[in-house]
Amino acid sequence: MRFSKCSEQAVIHLRSHRLALCGDHFTERFRDVVKKAIKSYRQLTKDDKVLVAVSGGKDSLALWDVLLDLGYDAEGLYIDLGIKKESYSDISREKAEAFARNRGAGLIISDIRKEYGMSLHAAARKNPRTLCSVCGIIKRHEMSRVALEGGYDVLATGHNLDDEAGVLLGNLLRWNLELLRRQAPRLEAWHPKLKPKVKPLCLLTERETATYAILRGIDYVYEMECPFSLNSPSIVMKEALNRIEERSPGTKLYFFKKFQRHRNLFASREEEKQKEEGAELVECGICGFPSSSDRCAFCRIMRGKRKN
Ligand code: SF4
Ligand SMILES: [Zn+2]
Ligand SMILES: [Zn+2]
Repeated sequence: MRFSKCSEQAVIHLRSHRLALCGDHFTERFRDVVKKAIKSYRQLTKDDKVLVAVSGGKDSLALWDVLLDLGYDAEGLYIDLGIKKESYSDISREKAEAFARNRGAGLIISDIRKEYGMSLHAAARKNPRTLCSVCGIIKRHEMSRVALEGGYDVLATGHNLDDEAGVLLGNLLRWNLELLRRQAPRLEAWHPKLKPKVKPLCLLTERETATYAILRGIDYVYEMECPFSLNSPSIVMKEALNRIEERSPGTKLYFFKKFQRHRNLFASREEEKQKEEGAELVECGICGFPSSSDRCAFCRIMRGKRKN
C-alpha cells in the first residue's frame, strides 16, 4: 500500500518508504533527509565555509543546490582532468560553470593541464596504477590543496546511498578493515593540513538525486557518466545491491545505517594502527602534504611540475 501526502500527481514512488510523492512534497522531503544526515552525523554547522566538489553530474550539483538553499556558505570546486573522450571534461565543466553562474555562487576551477602540465591520461600512462586509481589520487590531492589554500573548513562530496552501500559491500567482501573504518559520513581530518570530509547525500539514492535535480531544473551531464566509470569495480556491487533492493525494498538504507551504528567495531584496533603509522608520516618535500616518503603519491605522479 502506498501513502500520498496530497492529491497532486505523484512524480516518484519510494517503495522502501511506501510513499508516493508529488514534486513539491518530494523536494521538501529531499531537503529534510539532507538536514537529517547533516544533524545525525554532525557533518556541518552554519559557521562552516564549505567546499563542494562538483563534477557536473546530478549528485554533486544537487548537493550544492540543497546546501545553498539550506543557507550554507558553500562554494564549488571543479577539477578539470582533461578527459578528451566524448569531450567529457569540457561538457561537465560547462555544466558546473553554468550552475555557478545561475546561482551566483563561487566556483574554483583546478585545471590540471594548466596547473601541472599534464592531463589524467598523460599522468596515468606513466604510472602502473589503473586510470581510476590515478584519478582518485589527483582528485584527493586537489581537493585538499584548494581547501587548505582557500581557508575552507570542510569538504563536501556528492556520494549518494548507492555509492556508499556499493563501496561498503565491496569492502566487506574483501574485509578491508582500514577502508571500512574510514567509510564515515563525516571523516575527521587526521592531519593539520587536511580538512574533514562529509557526504550529506548518503541517505538518498541515485534515483532520488536524479529526480531532485530534474525537478529543480538543474542542467547536469545526464546523458553520460565519466566514460571510464564502466570499468569501476563498484558498478558490480551496485548492480548486486539493486537486485536485492528490488526483492527487498529498504535493504540499502538499512545496510548503510546499521553499519554506521556499528562502525566502531572496526575502529579501535585500526585507530591504534593508524597512530603508529601516523608517527612515521613526513611532509612531502614538494607540496607539503602528509606522506609516507619525501614525495607524496601525487607529486610522484605529477612530478611536482606545478606552474604557479
Ligand atoms: S570513473 Fe572517471 S572520474 Fe571516476 S575515478 Fe575513474 S576516471 Fe576518475
Ligand atoms: Zn504533494
Ligand atoms: Zn606532494
